[in-house]
Amino acid sequence: MSVALATDADVRAAYARDASGLERTPESVARPATQGEVAELVMQAAAEHRSVTAAGGQTSTTGASITDRGLLLSLRALDKIVEIDGDRRIVRAEAGVLLGDLKRACAAEGWLLAPDPTSEDECTIGGAIACNASGARSLRYGAMRPHVSALSVVMADGAMERFHRMRIEKNTVGYAAVQEPVDWFIGSEGTLGVVVEAELSLTPLPARTIGMAFPFASEADALAFVVSARQATGIDPRCLEYCDRQATQIVATATNDPAWKAALAIVYAEEAGDDEPPLESWLALAEQHHVIEAAVRVYDGEAALRDARHWRHAVPATMHERAAPFRAHGGRRVSTDWAVPYAKLARVLGRAQAFADAAGIAQAVTFGHAGNGHPHQNWVGESPEHVLRIEEVVERTLKVVIAEGGTVAAEHGLGKLKARWIPLQLGARQLGLLRAIKHELDPQGMLAPGNLIA
Ligand SMILES: Cc1cc2nc3c(=O)[nH]c(=O)nc-3n(C[C@H](O)[C@H](O)[C@H](O)COP(=O)(O)OP(=O)(O)OC[C@H]3O[C@@H](n4cnc5c(N)ncnc54)[C@H](O)[C@@H]3O)c2cc1C
Repeated sequence: MSVALATDADVRAAYARDASGLERTPESVARPATQGEVAELVMQAAAEHRSVTAAGGQTSTTGASITDRGLLLSLRALDKIVEIDGDRRIVRAEAGVLLGDLKRACAAEGWLLAPDPTSEDECTIGGAIACNASGARSLRYGAMRPHVSALSVVMADGAMERFHRMRIEKNTVGYAAVQEPVDWFIGSEGTLGVVVEAELSLTPLPARTIGMAFPFASEADALAFVVSARQATGIDPRCLEYCDRQATQIVATATNDPAWKAALAIVYAEEAGDDEPPLESWLALAEQHHVIEAAVRVYDGEAALRDARHWRHAVPATMHERAAPFRAHGGRRVSTDWAVPYAKLARVLGRAQAFADAAGIAQAVTFGHAGNGHPHQNWVGESPEHVLRIEEVVERTLKVVIAEGGTVAAEHGLGKLKARWIPLQLGARQLGLLRAIKHELDPQGMLAPGNLIA
């Protein structure tokens, strides 16, 4: 049996774009339907010294899922949910299953699959693992990594291997970097192996979840509220999401809520659990930070929470739309993914705004996971030169981020767009170890070339 490689221009063009705004046309495309076919394709590519880049939903914002070198291996047809085992609290699924579909299948049986990237209805399990994706609720549940308990991986020579996370509390055998092979592949951006199946851990669905939107008359009040909410007792936020002045305008338009028109920042929070949510404590804390009381909104029940999710998603969707007309002229959306310790967020955002002013570029539209110190600053780069000027400002900001103990990429990975910034964060020894791991697992350097390691 051998899987056909498509080389038609139309097929190759259909896999040449992701959400980064870049375009890379692969030399060929394969769409295997079984795990065995993936192994066969990778083995064949290794024998022919051909590169292989795995792709899932191609929602990558960094160009990680596109390539102009060798084979683009689409995993979308690996779409079986293998089992949901409530006794072991795990779900097993193939790499091409959409995360949103898997979450709904688990929820139907009373289980929460916690990771919640905004792109969950378009992204695959394999892609979410390869990027160590996270979401608003990662404030409470963490990113993908803690939820991955086992992986089946096709290695660079085509061998299929299965890795289980150890279930022990103590271990002194070997260096930390070698103890849990499952961790090698989480966040590896397709550079160490092709994930074909994953076992993920489940949590009981909370009996009740409420969302709360707190509008403020200043960004400083909103950011101070986030810090207080993380440190307060009596409340337990499952997410703390932030919209700056410009993002607030977008959501005020999306909701058509007149009370929000006067707001200059919004914080969205959720409480989830089996007890009555501590709404009074939240309101009291928000009042201390001068919340616009008449504009506070509470979302109770599935339909209301869906509404809240809808308006929050209006911000990235709007930025995507605004950037679209400039693509033909080499423009694109520039979006940051840096994070700092949450208490330093206001200070670092202030520095970033000063850099933009000094460079004479517009202020970013900023939204995202303030509870994790993780905002997304967004600009529309109208031309290649404009993109370059924006990225100079981003790079100045990243240097501050690193000096404050942060990271240049917290959830979207580095891909091809941000790989050049890895030396800002990792020292020479760390980079040497990174390359040594890559060389050990992929000696030909054939997996996802250009991702992560520039
Ligand atoms: C509108 C929008 C919102 C987003 N919101 C979030 C968010 O809230 N949080 C977040 O973390 N990210 C977010 N992202 C980024 C992106 O959606 C996620 O990183 C997502 O998990 C990628 O999954 P995918 O299936 O689309 O992967 P792809 O984009 O296809 O690939 C991403 C990377 O994973 C690798 N890969 C894919 N499948 C496999 C596999 N089976 N084995 C090995 N490697 C593989 C690829 O080689 C590539 O390096 C967003 C993107 C968009 C466009």
